[in-house]
This record gives sequence, C-alpha cells and structure tokens, in this order.
Amino acid sequence: MDKEEIAKLKKAGQIAKQTRDYAKLIVKKGTPLIEIAEKLESKILELGGKPAFPVNLSINQIAAHFTPSWNDNSVANGLIKVDLGVHVDGFVADTALSIDLENSIENKQLIDSAKSALESALKIAKFGETLSNIGLSVEKSINSFKFTPIHNLSGHAIERYNLHAGLTIPNYDTKQSIKLTEGVYAIEPFSTNGIGLVKDGQPSGIYNLIKEGNVRDTFAREVLSYIIEEYESLPFCSRWIYKKFGSRGLLALKRIEDSGLIHSYPQLIEKGNGIVAQAEHTLIITKTETIISTI
Ligand code: MN
Ligand code: MN
Repeated sequence: MDKEEIAKLKKAGQIAKQTRDYAKLIVKKGTPLIEIAEKLESKILELGGKPAFPVNLSINQIAAHFTPSWNDNSVANGLIKVDLGVHVDGFVADTALSIDLENSIENKQLIDSAKSALESALKIAKFGETLSNIGLSVEKSINSFKFTPIHNLSGHAIERYNLHAGLTIPNYDTKQSIKLTEGVYAIEPFSTNGIGLVKDGQPSGIYNLIKEGNVRDTFAREVLSYIIEEYESLPFCSRWIYKKFGSRGLLALKRIEDSGLIHSYPQLIEKGNGIVAQAEHTLIITKTETIISTI
C-alpha cells in the first residue's frame, strides 16, 4: 500500500467513525428505519465519502443484512445493529455498533461481550498473527459472558471496491495457521444467546454485481450501466434503485437478477432464535504498524 492509498483508507475510516457517532444520536426507539438509513447515508455523502454498502439495521434475531426497502414502515426497537461502510475512491472502511433500545440487562451484556471480543482481537491483530489466535480471543471473550460467538459469520479482508476479498477472520478458534499479512481487514465479532449459527432468511433487497453481461430489455440495460458505474462490485440495494429510477427500476432490477448478473443477499437469522449483538472495526495492517481506521 502506498501513502495515497493509506490516506484514502484513513479518510474513509474517519467518515465511518463520525457517521457511527451520529447513529448514536439518531437511533431511538420508534424511529422509522428508513429515516435512520437515509440520514446515515446522507451523512456519509456530506462528509465526503460514499456508502460502501447500504446501511444495515438488523434487529434482534436478524444478525445481518437487513436494510429497509423503499416502502418499509418498521421502526427501531430491540437490540439493533448499525453496520455501515464508507468508501473514498473505492478504499473502504466497515464498522458497526449495537444499541439496546429496551433497557434490557441481557441485551446490554450481549453488546458488552461483542465489544470486549472486538477489543481483545484488536489487541493482538498485527502482521504475522495467526487467524486461529484471533478467533480464539474472540471466542474466549464471548464465552466469558456465557454467550456464544456466531460461527458462520466472520470478519474479512477488504480490497479496493471489494468488500469481502477472500480471507475470512474467524470468530472462534478454527486452528488455522494462516497469518495476517499486509492489507485491510474488518474484524467483526457477533455474540448471541442462541446456538451460534445463522441461516438464510428472506431476500434483503441488497445485491452486488457478479459479472457484466447482457440484458435484453433496453431500460434494464440502462439500470445495469448505472449499477456498474455507480457501485462497481460493492453492494447496493433496491431502495437506492427505486430512488433513482422509480418502480420501473425495481422491474429492471428483477430482470437483471434473473439474467444472473447480480447476487441477492438473504437476511441472516440466528438459527436458535437468539438475540445477536455485533461490533466491528477496520484495520490497516502493514509490516510495521496496525492502524485502526474506524476508531
Ligand atoms: Mn460491517
Ligand atoms: Mn464487515
């Protein structure tokens, strides 16, 4: 990574941090999710970044991949995870916080366990550290609260315009001797009072481009060009397409999906119906230093 790349990664990280702080002010019980998502996405633009993916507002048993659709009328409640991403010229920062809106002691403990797991992983995450040790530190912290990490959710390497770039950072001891090398990584422990696994739920309305190709309909082609131009391979959502193109855009999106050019993400639901908390930061690791960009 050169200096210019690191500067853009740091800028994305600071915008993500400020937007996360802003979330703490506006996420209140009863506030429409669509209002929260749109305010946070506008804040990212106002601060000079772009959303690297739609703001995720997953509540209780939904561990991840919930973003309100254009006509969503649900409101904030329960244990809500605010997961947001920022990119500056394709250089990404990914961060999340969890908020308890119920004054629940157990929710607060779940949130504390995810936060302390993230802290302990961040203490050891540096060039040359093994993935198994990072996973072990996450697992130990969460277990010390008598909760369990979600085994089939993990952190990930990040590359330019590529949110999930190959390497995954486990939330339990996978016994992997693979080591962290130079690069950008998101570490994101998920803690639950359920069984520690997620399953696929309803479609989330979040998509990403898998390959460029042809769609027969002229208007769908226009929407596809917009997706390629605006998001490259980063995730986007039907709400954004509706905002730009109206309901015709949603039909076009369906056509593009049917032609196999975009991937649709399902919501991820805790298998044992447990409540889920999450914490996440992005790291820039070089041979000589580790920078937490979203702190
Ligand atoms: Mn995230
Ligand atoms: Mn992530």
